[in-house]
Amino acid sequence: MPTAQDLSTLYLSAADVARLVDRLGLPACLHGVAQRLEHDFGRWTDFDKTARVASHSPDGVIELMPVSDESLYAFKYVNGHPKNTQSGLATVMAFGVLADVATGAPRLLASLTLATAIRTAAMSALAARVLARPGSRTMALIGNGAQSEFQALAFRELLGIDTLRVFDTDPRATAKLLRNLHGQGLRLVVCGSTAEAVRGADIVTTVTADKALVTIVTADMVEPGMHLNAVGGDCPGKTELSADVLQAASVFVEYEPQTRIEGDIQQMPTDFAVTEFWQVLAGRRPGRTSDTQVTVFDSVGFALEDHSALCFLEEAARHLGLGDRLSLVPDAADPKDLFGSLARPAATHAVRPEALAA
Ligand code: NAD
Repeated sequence: MPTAQDLSTLYLSAADVARLVDRLGLPACLHGVAQRLEHDFGRWTDFDKTARVASHSPDGVIELMPVSDESLYAFKYVNGHPKNTQSGLATVMAFGVLADVATGAPRLLASLTLATAIRTAAMSALAARVLARPGSRTMALIGNGAQSEFQALAFRELLGIDTLRVFDTDPRATAKLLRNLHGQGLRLVVCGSTAEAVRGADIVTTVTADKALVTIVTADMVEPGMHLNAVGGDCPGKTELSADVLQAASVFVEYEPQTRIEGDIQQMPTDFAVTEFWQVLAGRRPGRTSDTQVTVFDSVGFALEDHSALCFLEEAARHLGLGDRLSLVPDAADPKDLFGSLARPAATHAVRPEALAA
């Protein structure tokens, strides 16, 4: 019979995850998660996949993102509320669970806000490693909020980007990015507009937050051979690239059924051709085919990336001895006797329900 210890769940709070990243170092985490992503996208057909379930409200969205293979089930809860920062809350907040498929027992409950930024950046850089022109060194970074430093460092680590041309409509966000990236071996060029930042860049990363069909990048800004890493257009009614940018490019996506609804390609006809990234990794479809081709990674964030991040966190936390044990499921000596786990299964109310509501 399983013991209480077997049934307990490893819990990683936001502080535990930050400690884990500090102990390993952010570069090691970006590389580690990128390796996991490459491995998991390489066994794409092993996973039971579904587009995420989204609940929309006027100012944001709350989403559940499940995925499973034959041994592990993962899900993430995540929101997207661009106006949150005005009231001191993050735009994106997340937590997630890993469970054993064989029993359904939850084995890990983890804060995923920091891990979401890391896995999104690692995914962007992994895609760019395959899709951007070899030798790319300069990246425009449009949107200098919570995700931005992670994008910058992932591209430094995985591609060798050494120059960033940065722009945000909020100068305080850019000032924060400059502070955080000081001494990180990146040349930082502050620009006065998106058009100025994009000029001459090998790669353009858009990571803005606005619940609107905005056009951060228009066709006149795009130069032959550019790779666009479009991260911020990730739910219905929220885009960053104009339709003619997409029309003139080769577009790569994570999971097509989800990206059709949420990605920049939501603006395009349903038969607009896209390639799922795993197919390029597997050598089934070409990625970049010439130095003048314009490529777009229309990133929305897919559940498999959170599965990879959760597996990375679990392994690293066990290695470092981080986290606490939680009793999420009752520890009953007889699993059929749930009733018996109550201290006083009396027939009468100890407290009247109206008293709880008061
Ligand atoms: P954030 O609110 O911290 O930062 C967004 C920044 O964009 C802000 O500084 C804002 O001033 C700036 N901005 C808004 N409109 C702009 C414009 N027109 N031009 C230039 N800058 C502009 O948000 P965040 O946590 O950094 O997230 C950024 C975006 O990335 C969000 O839209 C979020 O939903 C998305 N996201 C996507 C994924 C994914 O996997 N694709 C993962 C996480 C977050």
